[in-house]
Amino acid sequence: MPDAGPIDCDVHPFVPSLKALHPYLDRFWRDTFIRRGLEELNSTSYPTVNPLTARADWREAGGKPPSTPARLAANVLDPMGTRLAICNCLYGVQLLYNEDMAIALTRALNDWIAREWLDADPRLRASIVVAPQNPHAAAEEIDRCAADPRFVQVLMLVSGEAPLGKRQHWPIFEAAQRNNLALGIHAGSAYRHPVTAVGWPTTFTEDYVNQAQAFQSGLTSLLAEGVFTKFPDLTVVLIESGVTWLPAHAQRLTKTWKGVRPDIPWVVQAPDEIMRARVRLTVQPFDGPPDARGLERILDHLGSDEILLFATDYPHWQFDGLEALPPGIPDGLRRKMMVDNPLRTYVRLKQTLGETVA
Ligand code: ZN
Repeated sequence: MPDAGPIDCDVHPFVPSLKALHPYLDRFWRDTFIRRGLEELNSTSYPTVNPLTARADWREAGGKPPSTPARLAANVLDPMGTRLAICNCLYGVQLLYNEDMAIALTRALNDWIAREWLDADPRLRASIVVAPQNPHAAAEEIDRCAADPRFVQVLMLVSGEAPLGKRQHWPIFEAAQRNNLALGIHAGSAYRHPVTAVGWPTTFTEDYVNQAQAFQSGLTSLLAEGVFTKFPDLTVVLIESGVTWLPAHAQRLTKTWKGVRPDIPWVVQAPDEIMRARVRLTVQPFDGPPDARGLERILDHLGSDEILLFATDYPHWQFDGLEALPPGIPDGLRRKMMVDNPLRTYVRLKQTLGETVA
């Protein structure tokens, strides 16, 4: 571990029940949820009982994923000597068809994160959860939360109502850029469409593996619609996407772009160069080969040592023990992934630490 401790770019606060958000809802919505008997709104992509949702030794008595900052500290932050960790709360707000309800819940959720997590541990930072069902309200929520410098990113799911780059989402990107926030795209779906391009799959395994397909489509949409050109200061972080799909996809996209450039004339730089400069990936779960030589090849194909960000993906069950990085990573790259790359990616981390990074 580096001297100053690693920066963990993906940990998940678990909302124990809808009741936990009641103090942060206005009376109308609190009464509405009570009257309707709504008690849970968990992410459908990570069902509570699924083994991948929480590592067995981290689950609370009764089987629920761990739901307090004290448990996060005891399970990961203290043993790893973590300097900072970014909380990405996955909750079912993106799935709702009622925009007003989704907006009320994201406000409550972000306030809950600030009060119950960020206030509880000075090592914690967080992403602003938004409801892309209403991008203008989402932008307002970004501006509201951005007053707190501990929010360092805007969080969206990779699969929503429309491909990520569509102009309807641009108010969200504009607000993120305006506030020096990265745009985090996490695995997960609002289930408006199948997670595969060929229809609804049968099993959780298919859903999980095919998230990489959704990331390819989402990233291609961001690029082709011109988001990287329109928002030159926006960094996109793909969270829990895996990493091995990117080099082949970037190669295919770049080759096609060379042939049909007039189709997207606003993309004036080669897609693989844009991705190396503007796209970052968290490394957990790592889907590369287990041996050092295979890892070396993947890193070579990625073409930059600034792309990968350290993450544990706590409490998801991707690794045992405390070694969240694959073996064989050279020391220099290890430090970059754990400290330098996160600090460069998340401008606000530097600001809250009072540090400048070259
Ligand atoms: Zn995650």
